[in-house]
Amino acid sequence: MLSTAYPLVIHILLWITSLYAWRIKIYNIIGSLPPLTLYVHIPFCRRKCPYCDFHSSPVEEIPEAPFLAAVAEELRRWRHHWAQDERPLQAIFLGGGTPSLLSGAAVARLLGSIQQHWRLAADCEITLEANPESASLEKMQQWHASGINRLSLGIQAFDEERLRFLQRPHDLATARRAIAAAQGVGFAALNLDLIYATPGQSLAAWGRELAEAMAWQPQHLSCYQLTVEAGTPFFAQRASWPPLEEALELAFFAETRSRLAEGGWLAYETSNFAQPGFTCRHNSNYWSFGDYVGIGPAAHGKWSDGSGGIWRTQNPVALADYLRLLEGEIGPDWPGVRVPPAEAGRECLVMGLRHAGGVERALYQRLTGVDLLAQHRSRWMAWQEAGFVRVEAERICLTEQGMPLADAMLLELF
Ligand code: SF4
Repeated sequence: MLSTAYPLVIHILLWITSLYAWRIKIYNIIGSLPPLTLYVHIPFCRRKCPYCDFHSSPVEEIPEAPFLAAVAEELRRWRHHWAQDERPLQAIFLGGGTPSLLSGAAVARLLGSIQQHWRLAADCEITLEANPESASLEKMQQWHASGINRLSLGIQAFDEERLRFLQRPHDLATARRAIAAAQGVGFAALNLDLIYATPGQSLAAWGRELAEAMAWQPQHLSCYQLTVEAGTPFFAQRASWPPLEEALELAFFAETRSRLAEGGWLAYETSNFAQPGFTCRHNSNYWSFGDYVGIGPAAHGKWSDGSGGIWRTQNPVALADYLRLLEGEIGPDWPGVRVPPAEAGRECLVMGLRHAGGVERALYQRLTGVDLLAQHRSRWMAWQEAGFVRVEAERICLTEQGMPLADAMLLELF
């Protein structure tokens, strides 16, 4: 019995808290919460690439000590807030920015802070994004020793001229050296990031670059078409570039997918390819609407509260604001905002449709209370008839033919 000395409101608060705690425990036990992963955003780069609209700032020197202290504090606060949630982390992703600018000791300290607060699944995938020029052999050995088991190298092009066009801080020899070093270190998985369809690039030339990428036999490849985002230097320059005809754009897309499929890399998302058993667990969790903790400036997170509620968290974008928030008390937006059901359904659809697994109909129904097929029946049926989608009892997926049309379809749906 609670002491009658407590005012009624305290009784009610304690009752709600214990109910909430038990609900999360029960959902943990019956396994109805989605998998949980963790992302840490490292918002520093040597210089800004002209196509990049990620949140990152060029720095001479990373403020490692205050940054890592803030990250450790944020990890502590989130863990405290979700203390009843016993899900182990299925994956950790150190992304950026350029996480490879961190020293080996800083990466070890960061992983130590995470493990101090969260239990890791026995086979937890731990990825670090690295740029070739800042990924020395010594650093790679240190990252590997501290638990990084998946390295993602931002190669971007196997062509000297294209690397210069993209204004990457590395040349081709540095890229090749980094790949060879990573393979020597023995990460369980290696990803290479590539960008295609830069102005003037021919399909044949891209085929040669793809051949080199495949010859390295990485377990994973991410191949993105160059997109020119508003506000980037490329946005202002694009008017002077030769236009990319739609037919050539489609040919790049189809060539990439068919060449990689022939070589044994499964296209499991519009731009992501993996040898069997090597899909990126962290990104797959995004695309299948799993939960993730977002740590660091500009990072966002997603949580399921166990009763159908979806919560979004969004950290301050500017480093100074982020550091100030973590120095002070919990900010007004802590611990995030509840996502309205229709918006949660939209997010689930946007991410799921680009994924080979498609959108799970039961999940969509749980999020929105509406059956996805019934909601847009005439469109789904027309697209199925045209060979762009496959409507199944459990999911709706894009076909190979429909994959390049994902964006246009989503525009029609919303
Ligand atoms: S290195 Fe990566 S994150 Fe940094 S500016 Fe270039 S593309 Fe953006």
